[in-house]
Amino acid sequence: MKMKHPWIKGIIVSVVLVLGLGIFPVQLPFLHMTHATPVAKAAAPKYVTTANVHLRKGPGTKYSVILTIPKGKRIPYLKKNGSWIQTKYKGKTGYVSFQYIKKAGKSSPASYAAPSTKTPGTYVKGILVVNKKHRLPSSYNPGENKQARKAVNAMTAKAKKANIRLTAFSTFRSYDRQRVLYNNYVASHGKKQADRFSARPGYSEHQTGLAFDIGGANSKHWAEDSFANTKEAKWLAKHAHEFGFIIRYPKGKEKVTGYQYEPWHLRYLGSKNAKKVKKSSKTLEEYLNIKG
Ligand SMILES: [Zn+2]
Repeated sequence: MKMKHPWIKGIIVSVVLVLGLGIFPVQLPFLHMTHATPVAKAAAPKYVTTANVHLRKGPGTKYSVILTIPKGKRIPYLKKNGSWIQTKYKGKTGYVSFQYIKKAGKSSPASYAAPSTKTPGTYVKGILVVNKKHRLPSSYNPGENKQARKAVNAMTAKAKKANIRLTAFSTFRSYDRQRVLYNNYVASHGKKQADRFSARPGYSEHQTGLAFDIGGANSKHWAEDSFANTKEAKWLAKHAHEFGFIIRYPKGKEKVTGYQYEPWHLRYLGSKNAKKVKKSSKTLEEYLNIKG
């Protein structure tokens, strides 16, 4: 018996294996159709915490707290248990009350990446700085930045939904183009005035490919002080940062930035940096602690 037993076992294992292998290709698609449907998994709702909320060991306040999930975090839905859901946070599985969560929107706010830091110029905190103190080489001729263009297009599309028509009327400008522009302004306005609103060649943000002058439906306000009072300018001031832009030359900051108020001149930083600068209520020079 002692000798037979493993031998019989071996045969049984072999038979099961052969049967199993034979059945497997038939069963697999069948399984996909019934239980393990990937579609159902992807459709499971995501939730967002609406307050700092305890993740507990069980579905009730009598259960101990594992950790606290901060407000505004996205958490997955695992299963429901009364007025609690089972979820996971930082690798820990537990329960949170429905009271402190809401269903996450289908599309989380899009994020727009910061531009590459490999282009020539001065970088502070990873941000390319071009102002009256920091210039670009005359040979730097990148054209419009693709990420920034994508963000402008997304912003224009979003604005359109709110009945706001935006037009990028001046974007990338080469060194040579800027030289012609600046010289014309000097000829018509004098050097002192020209320097308040026009950059010298090599010192224009437009040469980075990251600056966009935006106007509204009425072109008579384009690049004019009157643009500030338009609904388009107000929309931009409120929403540009969501798409990675800042209003580069704010009102009353001429001494800091070197330029008078330009509610139309937007500079692309990527949404992460743009949100931080916006939140700080500072100019880019103040935010980076540099001279303009
Ligand atoms: Zn501009």
